[in-house]
Amino acid sequence: MIAKHFTIPVFIPMEACPFQCIYCDQEKISGHAHIPDAGEIQNIIQKHLSTIPFGSEIEVGFFGGTFTGLPIVMQKHLLETVKPFILQQKVKSIRLSTRPDFIDNEKLLLLKNNNVETIELGAQSMDDEVLRRSGRGHKAEVISKAAEMISGFGFRLGLQMMIGLPGDSEEKSLNTAKKFVGLMAKDVRIYPTLVIKGTPLEKLYRAGKFIPLSLDEAVEQTAAIFPVFENAGVNIIRTGLHPSEGFLDNSELVAGPFHVSFKELVLTQIWNDRLRKIENPDNFDEITISVPKKQINAAVGYSGKNRNMLKQKFRKVRFVADPSLQNREYNVDYR
Ligand code: SF4
Repeated sequence: MIAKHFTIPVFIPMEACPFQCIYCDQEKISGHAHIPDAGEIQNIIQKHLSTIPFGSEIEVGFFGGTFTGLPIVMQKHLLETVKPFILQQKVKSIRLSTRPDFIDNEKLLLLKNNNVETIELGAQSMDDEVLRRSGRGHKAEVISKAAEMISGFGFRLGLQMMIGLPGDSEEKSLNTAKKFVGLMAKDVRIYPTLVIKGTPLEKLYRAGKFIPLSLDEAVEQTAAIFPVFENAGVNIIRTGLHPSEGFLDNSELVAGPFHVSFKELVLTQIWNDRLRKIENPDNFDEITISVPKKQINAAVGYSGKNRNMLKQKFRKVRFVADPSLQNREYNVDYR
């Protein structure tokens, strides 16, 4: 049996980020949060460990900032804090997120010698125009070089992309996904661009110079990207932003395709694209669609969307699980 995998998240905010990505609220990130000290980190890890089932594969993830942009002393200190848990075999490894232009041999060597196994890069796009208009401060070739170095050092490579950034298009996003596959990413995260309060993007939006994707557009674009990663065996570890409080009560979100069940909407759409082709030229009364057990919810669709679509063509629509089917295979039986 494969051990269940858990990541214990430790949030490391940027204290003073020298960049200004257009979608980021610098004030909030740098002003109000602090880097947790050793005691706080150990508490976070202990607390999570007490809830994780025995025998699981556990990693500690330093997220939220540009880890390799921190002073070397601070990086060493954070990595050292996890070491006792690794020596006691309570934690297997460390993962962290950083910017592609903060990767070099010296930094990678430090991480390699301190139990880091996975490095995630906030790449966002492989299109230079999108990167420029989003204020990322680097070009796509920097992402390629950093990704190659990370894989070359033997780390597991994670890449994060955003869709709907200024200057982006469905074609450019698909291209970014294909380039991620070419860069040998093992894990990816896909985030639709949201307009957050206090960001330069909010100013552009209010001035009518930026229009975010609609929810339907974001779902359709992400549904087109999914197969690119799935067919290449890339693990999609996150789709859509976490429903934090500010998004749920609208205090942070100004505009954009946010939905608490964004991933479910995407999985529904992928099945919708397949099942939409089913016609009923012979006027059958009833249709039964067999799908793999794991796929039944997505096939029926969020709020029954795909079932309702088929109900416009058949009086009765049934979905059943068939253990002999794989991935998104399906069979249809008409009556
Ligand atoms: S998203 Fe961009 S601006 Fe915001 S903290 Fe990260 S690198 Fe800095």
